[in-house]
Amino acid sequence: MADYKKIDAYLEKNLDKSIAELSKLVAQPSVGAQNLGMKECAALVAEMLKARGFKVEIMDTPGAPVVFGERKGKSNKTLLIYNHYDVQPPEPLELWETPPFEPSLREGKLYGRGVSDDKGHIVSRLFAIDALLDSFGELPCNIKFIIEGEEETASINLFDFIKKNKDRLKADACMWEFGGVDHRDVPMEYLGLRGICYVELSVETASIDVHSGLGGSIFPNAAWRLVWALNTLKGEDERIRIPGFYDAVRPPSKRDRELIAAMPEVADEYKSRYGVKQFIKGLTGGVELRVEEVFTPTCTICGLTSGYQGPGSKTVLPARASAKVDFRLVPDQEPDDIRKKLRAHLDAQGFSDVKITDLGGDPPARTDPDDPFIQLVAKVAEEVYEMPMQLVPMVGGSGPSHPFVHDLGLPVATGGLGHPDTRAHAPNENIRLDLYLKHARHMARIINEFGK
Ligand SMILES: [Zn+2]
Repeated sequence: MADYKKIDAYLEKNLDKSIAELSKLVAQPSVGAQNLGMKECAALVAEMLKARGFKVEIMDTPGAPVVFGERKGKSNKTLLIYNHYDVQPPEPLELWETPPFEPSLREGKLYGRGVSDDKGHIVSRLFAIDALLDSFGELPCNIKFIIEGEEETASINLFDFIKKNKDRLKADACMWEFGGVDHRDVPMEYLGLRGICYVELSVETASIDVHSGLGGSIFPNAAWRLVWALNTLKGEDERIRIPGFYDAVRPPSKRDRELIAAMPEVADEYKSRYGVKQFIKGLTGGVELRVEEVFTPTCTICGLTSGYQGPGSKTVLPARASAKVDFRLVPDQEPDDIRKKLRAHLDAQGFSDVKITDLGGDPPARTDPDDPFIQLVAKVAEEVYEMPMQLVPMVGGSGPSHPFVHDLGLPVATGGLGHPDTRAHAPNENIRLDLYLKHARHMARIINEFGK
């Protein structure tokens, strides 16, 4: 373990330098939604990789470019590291204590848009590489970086990019862009992401809104049409009524339940944090609640719009109504298949007039908790965090991990510097410097042990 003494000493000694480099990257805005600074940020990331001897190419896509970097190492094994350089819009600006693109250090934390999501992860990983190069003069394994610029806008071009560049992206394992510790400072290993199918449902029953005294008895009403259509999607028993919706669902395994049982209780915390009085489906807490939370698909009405909602009364019959609806999907459901089944269901129920607009989707994906790479990432974490990683078989959110798992055939591990108060996507986004250092120490070990 002498290897790591030298590496840890290097990281401790050079922390300020690495934070200065991160600050420079954060100071370069790269807001995908506003097309602000994307090319400049890609160029800056490319420079940072080149400075470590990576062969770098800025590759075009129909959207923001992808930065691809590659450097050979001692062993012939290849680790693919996925990150993104785009950030969420900083608004509302007035809620930031210091400006979002002027990184600021206070009380052991660095504040700024993107410090955590995802620029901190990029630079701390480069920092780990610096330490390895300082100790060994070479990388223990081949490393490829794929750093995209559209993660915060649904990674719409990433799937095609991966399909087109399968050979270049060939690797043996993949480190995911995020990770972190929970409220007890326990490092988490997230092994699966649910998929998502996001649609807008809309109805138009007239070309203009109508006086409700005139049309109420004789005209169709868009709001009622939409409400009736929505009512066919799910019953009060919470069962989704679209025929075939559950066909592809693979239930959690015994191992999944075992891992979920080892996780902390959440019921009381959820109730107090969100002011929710009770859970649906008669759930009260325990393993059943936690399994249900991530291993069942959903149909959520995210928003509803129609007619008049201002102060007082307005007697109007709305011509238009629309709803945003998302379906969180579990293995092996597919968003395209769910959209087709939704269309067939609405038609069969007499709602051919309800239009479906596709607002994007990701299929679910997961990695086996007993995959040797996952075991390696979890094992080397112990020396850094002084406790084992908690293996989480599935999380409720979604992300573009499907092409990494299914097209590239890689085990995907998470690890990172996130913490519960990191405020990703919100004002005062921050990272804790102690966790930044720990992530760099963890990454150095992952890369080194992986090369052996
Ligand atoms: Zn994000």
